[in-house]
Amino acid sequence: MLLDFSLEELNNYVSDLGLPKFRAKQIFDALYMAKTLEEITNLPKDLKENLSKDYPKWEILKILESKDGTKKMALKLQDGSIVESVLLKYKYGYTVCVSTQVGCRMGCKFCASTIGGLKRNLSAGEILLQVLIYNKILGGTIKDRKVTNVVLMGCGEPLDNYENVTKFLTLISSPDGINISQRNISLSTCGLVPNIRRLADDGFNVTLTISLHAPNDEIRKKTMPIANVYKIKDILSACDYYFEKTGRRVIFEYSLIDGVNASEENMLELSKVLKGRSCHVNLIPLNSVKEKNLMGIERKRAYYLCGILEKNGISATVRRTMGEDIEGACGQLRNKLGGAV
Ligand code: SAH
Repeated sequence: MLLDFSLEELNNYVSDLGLPKFRAKQIFDALYMAKTLEEITNLPKDLKENLSKDYPKWEILKILESKDGTKKMALKLQDGSIVESVLLKYKYGYTVCVSTQVGCRMGCKFCASTIGGLKRNLSAGEILLQVLIYNKILGGTIKDRKVTNVVLMGCGEPLDNYENVTKFLTLISSPDGINISQRNISLSTCGLVPNIRRLADDGFNVTLTISLHAPNDEIRKKTMPIANVYKIKDILSACDYYFEKTGRRVIFEYSLIDGVNASEENMLELSKVLKGRSCHVNLIPLNSVKEKNLMGIERKRAYYLCGILEKNGISATVRRTMGEDIEGACGQLRNKLGGAV
């Protein structure tokens, strides 16, 4: 698929077809403007026919808009797979939350994305497409880009799709394309330790976000099967390694689940575990997922728990929840048409 290619790879593709080089730039621009093949007007018809087997095809099935302005899009890909992506409006700009897999195989008990397991990995271009479509919807172009930030926090586990996700990071931060700096990109992972280290070794410097959700391995195992594979201790040392290599402060996500991980004692233990690290904790009262019978806690209590972390020297905030009414909030994305209609 042509969106998987860098400009250089597209140059080679075009020259293999025996075409002049300027055609590559025309195709590249059309791709990055999220034009469908039909919408391209500056290419000859026979060339368009030639391209049709490799040019991406998609269909926007639905865009829901939340009361708070958050948008959620259901996007149908060439093979019929459906992925959801979210657009969040902040004071400083627009953030796109992309999916990296169709479904997910991590099996976290509180997350809608895992229902039905993993269908397949998304390619680099399919992840990129989600950002480019929102940029188009916002009236942005390649040079006058409207999307300012990207978070890899939709469906899927980014580090379980390492090759495609890192290719995506390279493409989206390339000056040839829409050039979003890695400083403005956050990658969230449930903690696949070897790939955290690999990301640092491969020279990436996105903001690393760890879905921790527990102060110890026993509690973590209750909701996150991956806790049977990697210990918190090992995740933290991989985070230290990432920090050493990149200088980027690591963020820990902690979804507060009533009766599981949201006691005062849990916060004290978490403070001890994270003490002395250059990090930040985001507390999120669990968002409801109708198939799951875990409950969140009241925001007021979340602020109280946040205070305990701060008193113990841990930088922490309670994250604003956005798009919950359209099932566009954390853990609510899935690989079918979801959400209030
Ligand atoms: N697989 C990656 C990327 C998903 S990001 C990861 O685990 O980090 C989505 C974030 O929302 C993760 O931190 C995830 O743990 C969290 N989450 C999942 N379900 C949730 C829910 N019901 N309420 C609040 N947060 C949830």
